[in-house]
Amino acid sequence: MRLAAVTFALLVSILMSACTSTPPVDTIRWAIAIHGGAGTLDPNAPAAEQRAYEEALTRALAHGRDMLARGAAALDVCEEVVRVLEDDPLFNAGVGAVFNEQGEHELDASIMDGSTLRCGACAGVRTVRHPVTLARRVMTDTRHVLLAGEGADRFAESIGLERVPNTFFDTERRRRALEQVLKERERTGALLPSDPQHRHGTVGCVVRDRDGRLAAATSTGGMTGKRWGRVGDTPVLGAGNYADGFAAISCTGTGEEFIRHGVARAVAARMQFGGQTLAEAVHALIFETLQKDDGGLIAVDAEGNLVADYNSTGMYRGMADSRGRFEVRIFRDEP
Ligand code: ASP
Repeated sequence: MRLAAVTFALLVSILMSACTSTPPVDTIRWAIAIHGGAGTLDPNAPAAEQRAYEEALTRALAHGRDMLARGAAALDVCEEVVRVLEDDPLFNAGVGAVFNEQGEHELDASIMDGSTLRCGACAGVRTVRHPVTLARRVMTDTRHVLLAGEGADRFAESIGLERVPNTFFDTERRRRALEQVLKERERTGALLPSDPQHRHGTVGCVVRDRDGRLAAATSTGGMTGKRWGRVGDTPVLGAGNYADGFAAISCTGTGEEFIRHGVARAVAARMQFGGQTLAEAVHALIFETLQKDDGGLIAVDAEGNLVADYNSTGMYRGMADSRGRFEVRIFRDEP
């Protein structure tokens, strides 16, 4: 009799634990990666400069982590974290964006919801403080995916987004970079700046939230000294930014190469049609498809696995998840 009761209790407890919705402790419930561009400082730059970047990345990553821990949706976290990075003059997005060859700023951004494939983007925007929010409003408030130039600025005005004069985005450091790039162009005729610091810079965020939804957002000022009207990969969904049910990806680097190879979509497609893991797919794109110094990307898959890889000297980046991971890096051989 006693044995029957014990067996019964045991069965009930097994059944209950099988029915409970609490995932095993080692399951990743949410995960986030951010980047601040592949055009990093020289590895021998003063420690204080490196620290400033690490602190800025830490602030943005902590903000995203806290939102996710409170149960925020992937799309909201991506937008919010990119806004934080757009407001930081250290990064080439929003304030601190690079200058085009005419000494002005033209900003590009995009956002994508992996669970619905809804997406929005803006290109060549000149007066919107947070281009990533404009991208999201293109997604939610229009039946289009990409608005460019004056039409995008006017749309921002019509929906009451915060607008600023173009000079709001100016920083001394970026002005010096433009002067350097234009001088170099005069001397060598090269269109692309030779210093990767002037070539690469962008911010991005990818997230897997508590409900398993994936999202990605990316924002940039483009490349220093770019031609007026030039649009890079950032607002081209599938090139510099993409999310579906397999992965969410945000890229940074020479935009033309990322467009040419449809890099962000190719990562997800390799998983979907080729059965590759996220890490395998990213590795193939970065080291087989792209060339050295083209740039890098961050990505997360449906299980919350995070990958950040690049073929440049470094990439400002950070990763965090619900198991307590929290790390910020610039170069490869750090702790
Ligand atoms: N991908 C950006 C562009 O080409 C720049 C960068 O990430 O460095 O506009």
